[in-house]
Amino acid sequence: MRFLLVATFLISSFFAVAKDKTDRAGSPHKSVGVLMDTVKNRTKPYKWDPLLFNDKGWLIGGYSVDGMPLLYWVCGDINAKNRSLVLSAVHGDEITPVYFGFRLVEWVKARPNLCKDKLIVIAPLVNPDGFLRYQRGTRTNFNKVDLNRNFPTPEWNQNAHKIWKEKYSSRRRYYPGDKAGDQPENTFQRWLINEFKITKILSIHAPLNILDYDGPISEEVNNDNFAKTYFDSCYILKENMKRATSKLRFFAYGTFPGSLGNYAGKILGIPTLTVELPTTDASKAMQYFADMEKSHQIFFDFAVEERPNYLKERASATASEVMNN
Ligand SMILES: [Zn+2]
Repeated sequence: MRFLLVATFLISSFFAVAKDKTDRAGSPHKSVGVLMDTVKNRTKPYKWDPLLFNDKGWLIGGYSVDGMPLLYWVCGDINAKNRSLVLSAVHGDEITPVYFGFRLVEWVKARPNLCKDKLIVIAPLVNPDGFLRYQRGTRTNFNKVDLNRNFPTPEWNQNAHKIWKEKYSSRRRYYPGDKAGDQPENTFQRWLINEFKITKILSIHAPLNILDYDGPISEEVNNDNFAKTYFDSCYILKENMKRATSKLRFFAYGTFPGSLGNYAGKILGIPTLTVELPTTDASKAMQYFADMEKSHQIFFDFAVEERPNYLKERASATASEVMNN
């Protein structure tokens, strides 16, 4: 009997390992605990509060190329009209957004009222492999792909590699990938947007000291895709955020094949605000977060009126299940 149990255990362990080995990334999956220990070690010299990197309350939306869990945190009402997504640390060599993402989760947790009547989803470390690679991290992911050039936008096949060669002289840090949307960390971001039927996005980068906005285009007003009410509402959100982040310069950076602003803002028509914190200096991370507290509140509180017609359905069954756990 005991032999049978041991044999069953061995067989099931074998299948568990075999399943891991067939994963797209090729690396065995690591636990949230392992990720957090690694992040704590990596950030020790910065003297950030180590309690930010606790292993409680996280959900996993996929695995990075090197097998790290892609974390997100959710609070609120799954059927709310007001649905925010925050994506932080997409570029692994931008240090201040790492603090920002994890600190924001604790900030929201300390304000349970904020989650009432709305849905908040935060992914604090979209590119763990880039952040944990080498001593200073890399912009790109483990496959050396720039995750902010990998979104499947309509002109990607025609232009992504052309622009990479011409504008960026084929510098590896801007490599858009072999194929649009082929990186797990990119799939993760698209999955969050779609699964939770997100109505506005805040993306945190550094060090350009700007606020950028991508969203529905005025030429599309009153066509079949969306109404003027929707366009106006997105515009008010942008203006409110501009006022609340007056330390940042407002600058329309433009979009690129495969960038989030292009994919979510222009193509899906979801208002997408990109904050570029002023520097990547880890010692300033706490100050930058404090400077933006007012704008967190404004961003979360703002309920965008209406939706583009093609994005009207509510969150999916899987998202509802996550919320009910
Ligand atoms: Zn960046």
